[in-house]
Amino acid sequence: MSEAAQLGTALIFSGPSGVGKSTVCRCVFEQYPGLRFSVSCTTRSPRPGEVDGVHYHFLTREAFLAHLAAGDFLEHAEVHGNYYGTLQSELLPHLRGGVDVLLDIDVQGMRQASGILRGMADIAPSVVTVFLAPPSLAVLEQRLRGRGTESEETIQRRLGNARAELSSWREYDYIVISDIVERSAADMLAIIRAARCRTASQHKEPWL
Ligand code: 5GP
Repeated sequence: MSEAAQLGTALIFSGPSGVGKSTVCRCVFEQYPGLRFSVSCTTRSPRPGEVDGVHYHFLTREAFLAHLAAGDFLEHAEVHGNYYGTLQSELLPHLRGGVDVLLDIDVQGMRQASGILRGMADIAPSVVTVFLAPPSLAVLEQRLRGRGTESEETIQRRLGNARAELSSWREYDYIVISDIVERSAADMLAIIRAARCRTASQHKEPWL
């Protein structure tokens, strides 16, 4: 990809399990088709409707560990007993090519990825972190149960993790409340738009 006039934005998006991240993401992608989704690798099994290479790269533990050993990941973490990781190739060439990329990763991933990206001189201005929060804890539990695809044990583990994740919200640049999907998506789009307008994201005078 050739050098673009503008750096793409890395939108690091986190929020507890069940908060509605995928729903908000879907609405954001509908309104901004030029946005790229960073397809993570995971060792968990696909849920009904999930497509390999679209929602995740579904890998065996061995394949995941091989990527790790090869240094292919920008960040990786163990979440809910499975490995998850972001391939550098899902992100860096696209940002340098001026494409905005959304990463749906957990708090551990945000810490690693934002630390590394902000340490890279040419990429640093592109990083924006957003935390999607539920309107209340009761709503979060209701949404987790509503999905109906998880066992009670999994729900309890995810609720415990959700409380821990919620306590990290101040580490993010922005917080968006997950109440009405369209409103949350509009907030996300406003954040991306503002990031693209930053002078630090322009490689040269836009008018030349
Ligand atoms: P789920 O299994 O429900 O799709 O995702 C579980 C959690 O893993 C979510 O919080 C999601 O944001 C996080 N996750 C997904 N991909 C990655 C990744 O590549 N790296 C990290 N650190 N977390 C991820």
